[in-house]
Amino acid sequence: MFKIKELNEECGIFGGYCLSGNIAPYLKCGLLKLQHRGQESAGISFGGEFQKVIKNYGLVNSAIDNSFLKNAQGNFGIGHVRYSTFGDDRKENIQPLKITYMGEDVSLAHNGNVSQAKKIREKFERIGEVFLSSSDSEVILKRLIFSLKKKPSLWTFEEVAKCLVENFSSGSYCILIYLPNRIMGFRDNFGYRPLMFAKCNEGYFVASEDVAFYGLNVQEIVEIKPACGVEITKEGYEIKSFAQPKNICQCVFEQIYFSSPASNIFSKNVYATRIKLGEILFNSVDKNFKADVAIPVMDSGLGCAIGYSQASKIPFHLGLIRNSWMERSFIQPLQEKRTLNVRQKFMPVKSVIENKKIVLIDDSLVRGTTSCEIIKMLRQCGAKEVHMRSVSPKIINTCFWGVDIPTKEELIAYNKTDEQIAKQIGADSVKFLPQEMLSEVFEGNLWCKKCFRKDENEIFLP
Ligand code: SF4
Repeated sequence: MFKIKELNEECGIFGGYCLSGNIAPYLKCGLLKLQHRGQESAGISFGGEFQKVIKNYGLVNSAIDNSFLKNAQGNFGIGHVRYSTFGDDRKENIQPLKITYMGEDVSLAHNGNVSQAKKIREKFERIGEVFLSSSDSEVILKRLIFSLKKKPSLWTFEEVAKCLVENFSSGSYCILIYLPNRIMGFRDNFGYRPLMFAKCNEGYFVASEDVAFYGLNVQEIVEIKPACGVEITKEGYEIKSFAQPKNICQCVFEQIYFSSPASNIFSKNVYATRIKLGEILFNSVDKNFKADVAIPVMDSGLGCAIGYSQASKIPFHLGLIRNSWMERSFIQPLQEKRTLNVRQKFMPVKSVIENKKIVLIDDSLVRGTTSCEIIKMLRQCGAKEVHMRSVSPKIINTCFWGVDIPTKEELIAYNKTDEQIAKQIGADSVKFLPQEMLSEVFEGNLWCKKCFRKDENEIFLP
């Protein structure tokens, strides 16, 4: 298997307790709404005291067949959609991961990246412990088992939290753990990834994004804050703090790219953020720029292009229709797949493109592969000029906290001028949101922006 880089995952998690006695269909529905967070595999673990796992490669609908759900039983469960970036897409890595210990089942689903996992794995292996997968999740689960050394039904929220803090304190994680008749959810100290809780008529649920709760009869939605978690039992739920949050680092890409526009992440609506980013982009770098049409790179570029169009008065049009059934290119692990997918993913609208001076708005430029292919496509459809704009600043550093940003050398913006980037992707011009303008949207010091800064990650490296 060809590996792009040795790192990270960006995933979606959903779980909880449902009053109806069969949580499995709720898990599937929740994961479908989080499908944008990972399309490589999906799985659910559900039941009561004993846990049944259904998981497979592919999108949620194909990985979790409805025929399994009809006769499913059990009020408790967790689910996961996965995108692997480690290049290791073996079946054992598909989550949730279930282990039976002292005759009791325990399952775990994880979103994030824990840098200490490698060292802990090596330590365990030296004493003869065997791992069935290469995922961090198995390391977390085994670390918990070794630390607590008692039946999972006896694990307390405080003991699990203590073990996470002591062993994985510099990583990024949102974790769901399914113990006999109990669900626990934890968000790390820094709060890199989002975790939301909902009290509904149907039960209690926890998810990466609040969009996963739509369709349920929601009474209340609460953001699980950094260094906090939730414990859900038949009797109810409790949201608890387990440590002092420090250096809060909410990933700005959750707003710019990953999350659904319908979600409210870190107390901000994602769609509104993207509109504002588009407006700021125009006002800060393009004040006197004129074009015939503003076209978004769908989907995350949509709100940004609307904002840019509103500020510039350049007419907004959908010049590229996205095939919703194709996978997203940034969250595809293989470079070859990316190039191929761009052509299958976007369908150009010739009447919008032909003889037009186009300003093409995207959320970011990572490797530049997608932009390059799209620009080629636009020119083949008769575009007069194509000017590329990115609502995120230049990404010039990699990420150790759960996002697949390649090595610096693979990043298109690393050590290149705007002109050099434009030449490489075949655009007439390229402009990025200036880094200092990001604070107009992401105010205060609660945000992680390390990938926009040179050598910043080395300072923060765990
Ligand atoms: S380094 Fe960039 S991608 Fe990684 S968590 Fe920070 S903002 Fe997000």
